[in-house]
Amino acid sequence: MGKLIFISIIVLLVYWLIKARKHTSTKIESLADASEDMVRCAYCGVHLPESESIANEDNFFCSNEHLHKYLASKS
Ligand SMILES: [Zn+2]
Repeated sequence: MGKLIFISIIVLLVYWLIKARKHTSTKIESLADASEDMVRCAYCGVHLPESESIANEDNFFCSNEHLHKYLASKS
C-alpha cells in the first residue's frame, strides 16, 4: 500500500513539473517575441532573431548550410 502512495506522489510530481515547465516556456516565448536580440549571420550578413539562428562559438548563422560554408571557408 505504501508503494502505491509513493508511485502516486511521483506521478503527481512529474505531472506538476511538466505543467510548470510548459507554463514557463510560453512565458519566455511571449517575452522573446517582444524584445528578442537580433544576430547577424557571419556568412551572408542577414539579420535574424537569436532563437532562430544557429550559434557556433562566437558566431551566428542563418542556416546550417551557412555554418558549414563558413567553417569550410575558414579552414
Ligand atoms: Zn546566412
